[in-house]
Amino acid sequence: MYEFRFGGEVQQRPAPGSDQHTWGEYLYMRTNVSGIERAWWFHRVGCRRWFQAERDTRTNRVLRTGWPPLPGGVAGAVAASSAAGVAAGPGGSAAVTNAPPPPGNADAGGGDG
Ligand SMILES: [Zn+2]
Repeated sequence: MYEFRFGGEVQQRPAPGSDQHTWGEYLYMRTNVSGIERAWWFHRVGCRRWFQAERDTRTNRVLRTGWPPLPGGVAGAVAASSAAGVAAGPGGSAAVTNAPPPPGNADAGGGDG
């Protein structure tokens, strides 16, 4: 039993009418960045809301959390972590855009858990 549930990295949803290749990449390909990643999380034991967190996947350290859009983008988090003496990873400049929460999660409306 975990308080938070991982919802996957934040991605840009393809435009309606995008080709099959584009949708395939969106649905199945993951960046799996080594460095700062922005991802969806679900506070399953608590307010039961989806939020975003920026986390350094090398150290599992959470840099910041919030409801989108998070101001400053990932670049801002990289700058903040650099100021704190943490080197920015190669994935730190990845483009992050707003997207709806992942659909079809089993926890939605699941009662007390
Ligand atoms: Zn919460």
